[in-house]
Amino acid sequence: MHTPPAHTSPTNAWPVGDLTIHRIDETRLPPQTGEWLLPDATADLVAQHDWLRPDFTDPDGRLRLHTHSFAVTLNGLRILIDTGIGNGKPRANPAWNDLRTDYPSRLTAAGFAPEDIDLVILTHLHADHVGWNTRAHEGAWIPTFPRARYIVSRTEREFWAGYAMDEPRRQMFRDSVHPVEEAGLLDLVDVPPDGLDLTPGLRLIPTPGHTPGHIAVELTSRGAGALITGDCLHHPVQFAHPAIGSCVDIDPAQAATTRRALLASLAERHTLVLGSHFPPPTAGRVIPDGDAYRLTPPPAT
Ligand SMILES: [Zn+2]
Repeated sequence: MHTPPAHTSPTNAWPVGDLTIHRIDETRLPPQTGEWLLPDATADLVAQHDWLRPDFTDPDGRLRLHTHSFAVTLNGLRILIDTGIGNGKPRANPAWNDLRTDYPSRLTAAGFAPEDIDLVILTHLHADHVGWNTRAHEGAWIPTFPRARYIVSRTEREFWAGYAMDEPRRQMFRDSVHPVEEAGLLDLVDVPPDGLDLTPGLRLIPTPGHTPGHIAVELTSRGAGALITGDCLHHPVQFAHPAIGSCVDIDPAQAATTRRALLASLAERHTLVLGSHFPPPTAGRVIPDGDAYRLTPPPAT
């Protein structure tokens, strides 16, 4: 019997045409995260959707949420999408404060050693998506991916530049965004309404609402497609209830409009959806269900 290495197990790597998209795990968020983040997703509402169990919710109806990155090799480029919470970062949220995970060794084990990463795409500038932009080194925060170009929407960067940030958010920019800018590694890109091709097969899709410059990432190969959500969808319960938004959406109405349009488009195109906070099995197809949708993971192979 041949046992596949962990990084090719069907639960954390997905074929899309000629590509393989890898999930690089960081951590599971505490069980109370869901009721804070998505307060309208009550246990009673969750109980109405059998397909959410047992993978996407706990037996008591609490939402399961994880943090991870996705990694893919495309056109010879090693690409990482979002960088999690990071290690050793001082954070007001106790679940994010001073983490000690072995995320870098998981990246390396999947074939994406930090020094080999060419592109880091940031869906938006929140603390749980930019943390591994940097790592601690001799008392300073230095870029974790020294050869990479880090990509963020210009709208996103400029929004935060003009935002009255509280001290915890300023801290996050100091330790996870400014060092990358100061190293000259951050590229601001203009993302038009119909998207921007960064390289053939990789398209940035504007998905505003959670933040103004939020982008989702679409990967295509040989007629197959996948979409990495970032935080325009936090949890599969939002497939059944697209109106349910997160407590940290900058523009809740726009976030709901974005979710509805995106889900309709994904259902039509049979795209594989990979959720940036979805617990395993993490990915699936968008299937119409009543007046909304459900997420159907591909069968394990
Ligand atoms: Zn997030």
